[in-house]
Amino acid sequence: MQTTVFETPIEFLKGVGPERAKLLKSELNIFTFGDLVCHYPFRYVDRSRFYKINEVNAELPYAQIIGKIRNISNAGANRQLRLTADFYDETGSIELIWFQGAKWVRKVLTENAEFIVFGKPVYFKGKLNIIHPELNLLKPKTGGQDLHGLENPSSREKPGGIGLTLQPVYSTTEKLSAMGLNSRGIQKLLSSLFEKIQGSIPENLSEDILLKWKLLKRNEALLKIHFPDNARALKMAQSRLKFEELFFIQIEILKIKMSREKGLRGLVFAKVGEMVNRFYKEILPFSLTEAQKRVIKEIRRDLGSGKQMNRLLQGDVGSGKTMVALMCMLIAADNNFQSCLMAPTEILANQHYRNILFLLEKLGLKTALLTGTTKAKERRELHQNLLNGEIKILIGTHALIEEEVKFKNLGLVVIDEQHRFGVEQRAKMQMKRPPDIPDESSEHPPEFRNPNDLAKVVSPPAFQSPPHVLVMTATPIPRTLAMTIYGDLDVSVIDELPPGRKPIKTLHFTDAQRLQLYGMMKKEISMGHQVYVVYPLIFESEKLDYKHLEEGLEALEISFPKPQFQISVVHGKMKQKGRELEMERFLKKETQILVSTTVIEVGVDVPNASVMVIENAERFGLSQLHQLRGRVGRGAEQSYCILCTGDKLGPDGRLRMQTMVQTNDGFKIAETDLQLRGAGDLLGTMQSGEINLRIANLALDGQILQAARKTAEEVLSDDINLAKPANLPVATQFAILQKGKKDWSRIS
Ligand code: ADP
Ligand code: MG
Repeated sequence: MQTTVFETPIEFLKGVGPERAKLLKSELNIFTFGDLVCHYPFRYVDRSRFYKINEVNAELPYAQIIGKIRNISNAGANRQLRLTADFYDETGSIELIWFQGAKWVRKVLTENAEFIVFGKPVYFKGKLNIIHPELNLLKPKTGGQDLHGLENPSSREKPGGIGLTLQPVYSTTEKLSAMGLNSRGIQKLLSSLFEKIQGSIPENLSEDILLKWKLLKRNEALLKIHFPDNARALKMAQSRLKFEELFFIQIEILKIKMSREKGLRGLVFAKVGEMVNRFYKEILPFSLTEAQKRVIKEIRRDLGSGKQMNRLLQGDVGSGKTMVALMCMLIAADNNFQSCLMAPTEILANQHYRNILFLLEKLGLKTALLTGTTKAKERRELHQNLLNGEIKILIGTHALIEEEVKFKNLGLVVIDEQHRFGVEQRAKMQMKRPPDIPDESSEHPPEFRNPNDLAKVVSPPAFQSPPHVLVMTATPIPRTLAMTIYGDLDVSVIDELPPGRKPIKTLHFTDAQRLQLYGMMKKEISMGHQVYVVYPLIFESEKLDYKHLEEGLEALEISFPKPQFQISVVHGKMKQKGRELEMERFLKKETQILVSTTVIEVGVDVPNASVMVIENAERFGLSQLHQLRGRVGRGAEQSYCILCTGDKLGPDGRLRMQTMVQTNDGFKIAETDLQLRGAGDLLGTMQSGEINLRIANLALDGQILQAARKTAEEVLSDDINLAKPANLPVATQFAILQKGKKDWSRIS
């Protein structure tokens, strides 16, 4: 493959010696010219804007002011010598301070000459100051004055000069800054880099695509992202580069998806037989909702198609995903395949097991439970019965992905509350099916660094038929995110709750309303209902969280005294046995209140519970709040979710509470969550995998993503191997990106 100028090692750039090169690599992962070019500014400072001094305040990130200097003075003792000067215009004055280089600065400060001062205003010793400002003479004498690395104004046209109205700001580190590579130092490197490579940056989008979306050429976009002439040029450059970034991700995802769909390697579940029919006629305790029926149909089509199913099932909390999963497992059983259901917590696995065991009793399908606490002896027996095929349905936690767990004939993997599992775990589960022809390598699933790598496991060598995979989540994922993380999965949505449910009423209470809250709780309890009280549990402040829980519990015990009231307590510090016992008491209605940390968050189903009280609600993210709220409202009665916070809330916290009070729609909540937290954070809690976006922002760039996806679809459906001449630029770039991915060794 042809190499491009982008692959030139960074050492070869003028101004980068071996030492700087070493630091650029270790600190910023900049190994090549290409890496430097793609080290985009994270922000721009508007140098076209000048402030009057009376407009300046410490909130401004930067201010640029024209004025004059007076009252230059040295202050402080020898070792702490500092230089100060008043800087004034017709509206007022501000102090300039230098702690370093005072002697030298002193020489160039001229009273009554006009300067442009640029810097971050701060409050220091009760006064507004700019410390170590950038300083330029407005009307330079011959030769001009250049302080602190600023080029003199006569060099304004040159890239990197202050003539740029939008000055880029680059991320850097202390070590790099100490070597002269602060933001401006990096800008200088880029300036000399562009002088060198400007003409030889290869285009990586086809002519058609550029024309269709009116995109800047790549070399122009890269130049303008670093050296924008104005806001409009910058915007165009950003759009082009965002498009490019998202486009190549989509090419990768869609290539995998399309080639998988072309192959005919899936296990075929040809029939719906006795198990399904009997279950449907004799056991199913309610009629399915239309949405459930539709989704089961979609899944059945997949299972019978000869293609491997990879389906994401989204449905709000309480929409009845478990029943859909169970029906699918019965289809597997009807076709003599085993299936398994993996849940993220022990409590949830137990609950699934109990419910399913109860439902399947009549059918005589052997169902087993495997969790971290399953005893060794039981475990051995269970392994045996999985291998000989006696166990048809296995339910458990991530204990299911341990090495020793081997199936005779695994046909379907259901993963519940998927956002709780790492991609790695998801992928390992799919390796659980022994290859149709022995293959040593399948015992060691590769490491997954990118969520989309999952799809590669899904397409193993041709002789293996992987099990079908159904991934379920109650955290609705914004479309943009789903298209990126789950872009290779088909999506089914249950958009309907079982009939008879009343929408949950959500209220926001502050501390002053505690009596009112207790009153509500008492009223509900007197009607025979039950109440959850949940405390956050955050790793860093675990101790504090437990203290909150304990104090809260004490207060509750006073207001809800025994024997009239009984309270269960469940938290992570308790032994498994104790937790189960307490949970059990609540399930059996022996207790009316369940006080817990977030262990109950996922999936637990107690239809009789009608109130969810969330303490310190401001400390929860939106999707978590929504999840918790979904624990109630499962019966026919009116249910309530009470968000308790202190009086003072930040703007984010306030918006979260408002959103919760205003809507029950999980998708709306997910969108707001994405806006608030950004994709990175959201992913952090949803996935252990990562998506590294350099410039695009999934919360903001939905439109560009749509365009990129559409374009990728068009390109691939016409030319899946990117072999046509018109697609050469795309193919070349794609190959480079793939190669870079394999080359993980260079990233420590
Ligand atoms: P989730 O989608 O949150 O996993 P579950 O599968 O736990 O929801 O279902 C929530 C509750 O709704 C369970 O008690 C379940 O038995 C009940 N349920 C599911 N489907 C229906 C239906 N079609 N009609 C009535 N109740 C249903
Ligand atoms: Mg569930």
